[in-house]
Amino acid sequence: MIRPLIAGNWKMNAGGAEGRALAEAVGAGAAEAASHCDLLVCPPAVILAAVADALAGSPVAVGGQDCHEAASGAHTGDLAAAMLAEAGASFVIVGHSERRADHAESDALVRAKAAAAHGAGLIAIICIGETEAQRDAGETLAVLSGQIAGSIPDGANAANTVIAYEPVWAIGTGRTPTADEVAEAHAHIRERIKGGIARSEEARLLYGGSVNPKNAGELLAVANVNGALVGGASLEAASFLEIARQAPS
Ligand code: PEP
Repeated sequence: MIRPLIAGNWKMNAGGAEGRALAEAVGAGAAEAASHCDLLVCPPAVILAAVADALAGSPVAVGGQDCHEAASGAHTGDLAAAMLAEAGASFVIVGHSERRADHAESDALVRAKAAAAHGAGLIAIICIGETEAQRDAGETLAVLSGQIAGSIPDGANAANTVIAYEPVWAIGTGRTPTADEVAEAHAHIRERIKGGIARSEEARLLYGGSVNPKNAGELLAVANVNGALVGGASLEAASFLEIARQAPS
C-alpha cells in the first residue's frame, strides 16, 4: 500500500494574512487525516516561510509552486529550489499546466526544474495531462507518454518524484474524467514510468483536476491513484481536510 499524499496548490491566492490563517487551520485539523495520509500545502512563495513556521510541529509539509532550473544567477523574479528548501519547503510542483501554458514551459524545461529540485533535496511533483482537444482526438495516452519521456530527469526515484495527472480541461472547471478514464490514465502512467523512475511501482501518482469533498472518495479509490493535487478546494481548510479524510487508509 502506497501512503497517499493530499497536496493543496493555493496558486496565486491567499498570499498574506489569509494564507497564514489557512495554514493554521489546516495544521490544527490535520491530526485525523495525517493518521493515514501525508498532507502538503503549496502557498505563494512570499508566505512560504511564514506558512512553514505556522506548520512547524504539525504533520503538514510545505512546498513551492515552481522553481528555476538554475541554482543561482541573473534570473530576475525567479526562485532557486535551494531557496525554497531554506524557506521550509520539502516539495515543489513543476510543470503545472498553468506554467506550461502561461510561460510556454517545455518538457525539457520541466525536466531541468525537476532535476534542480532533486539537487536541492526537494521532492518534485511533476505535472502532466492532456488538453480537451487532445482527449477529443484520442491522443491522451500518447500525450502522457511524451510528457513522461520528456519531463522526468535522471536520478528520479519513488522517494524524490511524484507524478500528478491533471487533465488540463478538468482544472478549475468542475469537470472530471470518469473513474474508468482516470484508471486508464493512471495504469498507463504506472507502466510508462518504469525505467524513468527507480522503484516505479512505489511512486506516488496523484490525480488533480476539480477534486472536491463530494468526488474525492470515488477518485481516490481508483487503482493507481495515490492521492490528489487539489486547487480550489484547498483554499478552505475544511474542504481540504475532508478530501484528505477520504484518502484510502
Ligand atoms: C490544480 O491546479 O492543480 C488543480 C487541481 O486545480 P483545481 O482543483 O481547482 O481544479
